[in-house]
Amino acid sequence: MLTPVLAPINDFFGVLFNLLYPQNCLICSNKINDLKTHPICGDCIDKIKINPETSRIEGETENFAFDCAFYATMYEEVVKKCICLFKYEGKTQMANPLGKLMCDFAVKSMGTDKIDMIVPVPLHPVKLRERQFNQSELLAAHLAKKMSKSVVKDKVKRIKYTAPQTELKRDQRLKNVRGAFLVKKNADFKEKTVLLVDDVLTTGATLHECAKALKYAGAKKVVALALARGS
Ligand SMILES: [Zn+2]
Repeated sequence: MLTPVLAPINDFFGVLFNLLYPQNCLICSNKINDLKTHPICGDCIDKIKINPETSRIEGETENFAFDCAFYATMYEEVVKKCICLFKYEGKTQMANPLGKLMCDFAVKSMGTDKIDMIVPVPLHPVKLRERQFNQSELLAAHLAKKMSKSVVKDKVKRIKYTAPQTELKRDQRLKNVRGAFLVKKNADFKEKTVLLVDDVLTTGATLHECAKALKYAGAKKVVALALARGS
């Protein structure tokens, strides 16, 4: 931890370092000033297509436990690369631009005032140990900060280690995650409106199971938000 006296000096050297040794956008190699907080350049951010129709999955029509699930961006080339870098190459600073996209979408298209808390979809402890971070938790933290809401991250547990959903068909996916989540006894979701956050939404099976556990624990409403919708 830097003392307050040293922090400006450190900032100064940080700026100087970036001037002398400009760094590159992780997607297109454009020069970039502060790779720590902005891992991709403005041009690449602009290429990401924000979900234009605020397409959503209504829980009721599909018998899902969540009330509604939104996705902020279209699952296209740049977003795919961003998610890959974020999840599989440990570029956790991706949470900044990606979280911002989600936040902008949420404020514009979802209405966020009634949300009581933000819950990231948890990883199984084994997966968390492998990856060392939960990408949904980092996105949720970004959203919470911008929306001035609290993140509740230790009250929902993933108790079932599941095969990657991407390799499964729809009915297999539903079966694969059935009973995967459990809400801890000391959690307080009674009558609460929860924003459930995940990185990629595919069939909605994972969000459904997680929302089911939250509703079982008394949540009044569960609205889900994913960064992108995959296939
Ligand atoms: Zn770029």
